[in-house]
Amino acid sequence: MDFDLPESALAVREGVAAVAAKYDHAYWSQCEEEHRFPQEIFDDLGRGGWFGLCVPEEYGGGGQGLLELAVANMTLCASGGVAGTFFYVTTPGFGAMTLTRHGSEEQKQRILPGLADGTVQFCLALTEPDAGSNAIEIKTSARRDPDNTDDFLIKGQKIWISNVENADWMVAVTRTIPAAETKAQGLPRTAGFTLFLVDVKQALADGTLSYNPIPKMGSNILHSSQVFFDDVRVPAENVIGEVDAGFGVLWDVLNPERILAASGGIGTADAALKIACDYAREREVFGRPIGANQGLQFPLAQLKAKTELGRLMTYQAAWLFDQGRPCGNEANVAKLTGAQVGWEAANQAFQTLAGMAYSKEYPVERIFRDARIAKNIPVAEELVLAHIGTAMLGLPKSY
Ligand SMILES: Cc1cc2nc3c(=O)[nH]c(=O)nc-3n(C[C@H](O)[C@H](O)[C@H](O)COP(=O)(O)OP(=O)(O)OC[C@H]3O[C@@H](n4cnc5c(N)ncnc54)[C@H](O)[C@@H]3O)c2cc1C
Repeated sequence: MDFDLPESALAVREGVAAVAAKYDHAYWSQCEEEHRFPQEIFDDLGRGGWFGLCVPEEYGGGGQGLLELAVANMTLCASGGVAGTFFYVTTPGFGAMTLTRHGSEEQKQRILPGLADGTVQFCLALTEPDAGSNAIEIKTSARRDPDNTDDFLIKGQKIWISNVENADWMVAVTRTIPAAETKAQGLPRTAGFTLFLVDVKQALADGTLSYNPIPKMGSNILHSSQVFFDDVRVPAENVIGEVDAGFGVLWDVLNPERILAASGGIGTADAALKIACDYAREREVFGRPIGANQGLQFPLAQLKAKTELGRLMTYQAAWLFDQGRPCGNEANVAKLTGAQVGWEAANQAFQTLAGMAYSKEYPVERIFRDARIAKNIPVAEELVLAHIGTAMLGLPKSY
């Protein structure tokens, strides 16, 4: 079954599948066990240009779009590297997509070539201890340095920031007007946001930026960390878009993130269904393959149907984004479906393998852990449903 994907996306699928085939489930499970960044496959994908797909050709990239990135991520996850979604979300998503659409010419020339050849990594610092779903309430501030008004100083705290340890650049989401002040001035709640490019290595070296990895249940191929900003100095030329008008830019970060998360969920479902069905064809109980029992076969068939529906919505959302058209509704429906089906397929694979699902000999336990968090991040399922309820069904808001 295949949607009428453009040649470019089909070529991406083929190319990423060829790289991913060199790294089996055992490779990913070992990296997870050792809490080790999968540098080998990361470098392999980078060398092949599979992270630079959406970087414009004049900066050395593939000149393609989010659709091709989503296909690349889906293919990587289908190979079993389901936590590899973090590769695609952090660097091509937060870095290349954001700068391609909103970076200044100088920022593009400075950073996009490294994103094209896979030598530069990114992270996004949005979530705070008191502002997750309610991102509007972030408190991390950026103010002009009174002694050098060409620079901003960032102060505050973030939480759960993935990939800081590998990142060269961070997209830091700050308030240049505090939430309370926007209210007092009668400005919209979304006013006063500014996004910055923070040079991570430099700020870590000068001690103004620090992080603490949070021990976590899965996705241990990279850290997710508490991050502290203690007057991190950032030159004004590192503002992404306009000062105080960052919320519009932020939506062009969050929608691709949701679409890439959706593609990861669909790829996860592909991986889990393959493991479950391979096992169910072979394993015989009571003298017949367990896959013949409709109690196992029908849930797998149902999940296959949901996976294919989610795949189409993911493609549609990515295509709309690439056309510069509104894609919020589609991104949310895709994210909801991708995250659900990835988790449900992992859970059903667990049921199918029964006792062996619990063994580290099979990758099901790893995929099960990694798939679960996708229902909560990058946006929690309830908030996605709230968007669908209010924006698509016209129901009253709870937030
Ligand atoms: C492994 C991992 C990696 C992450 N990586 C990053 C990263 O790289 N960068 C980054 O910025 N953030 C990152 N995050 C943070 C992530 O985006 C947030 O955890 C997520 O947005 C949810 O926020 P929260 O955890 O604060 O939940 P909360 O906002 O505290 O919500 C708690 C619960 O309340 C529900 N809820 C709240 N309001 C409503 C309502 N009105 N109606 C119904 N239900 C409601 C939510 O749906 C949720 O179930 C990561 C998180 C994890 C776990």
